Amino acid sequence: MNNRYAALKKNDIANGEGICVSFWTQGCPFHCKGCHNPSTWDPEAGLPLPVDYIEQVCDALIENGVQRNLSILGGEPLSEWNKNLVNELVTKVRIYFPHIKIYLWTGFLMTDLLITEDSVISSILNKINYVIDGLFEIQKRDLTLKLRGSSNQNIYQKINNQWEKIS
Ligand code: SF4
Repeated sequence: MNNRYAALKKNDIANGEGICVSFWTQGCPFHCKGCHNPSTWDPEAGLPLPVDYIEQVCDALIENGVQRNLSILGGEPLSEWNKNLVNELVTKVRIYFPHIKIYLWTGFLMTDLLITEDSVISSILNKINYVIDGLFEIQKRDLTLKLRGSSNQNIYQKINNQWEKIS
């Protein structure tokens, strides 16, 4: 498990609905051309992961009595480096905050994730509400898209325990 992370933002209105706590993992194997966050590629860069990172996120989710949603970005949250810490995070957050929305951005495709035999990935998918999938493709870059950087990327929402592509 990676003991690094990229960033934690307690009041983010750019990623997800409403005010979100955004957590950026460190380490991405994809190296998309035009990635806006190349500093997150190296799994050994970034910041030391605090031992109480889950508590810090949970505290931030209700700081000042304002309920927030949670966004998990990269880096690649589902990479081998990060999937275990992300699973621990969403598992604990879901216990304490059963009704908030949890968003996750990944370069992997949902069509592959939904048939994975990786129990950690399946556990993460069980806890979250939205997945924005696909690599960033600079020739398909579109700044008008909600939650996405390029038009090949998709938004999936879990509705009645089924994942549906909504955009
Ligand atoms: S998957 Fe995301 S973080 Fe990784 S290189 Fe592509 S755009 Fe950057």
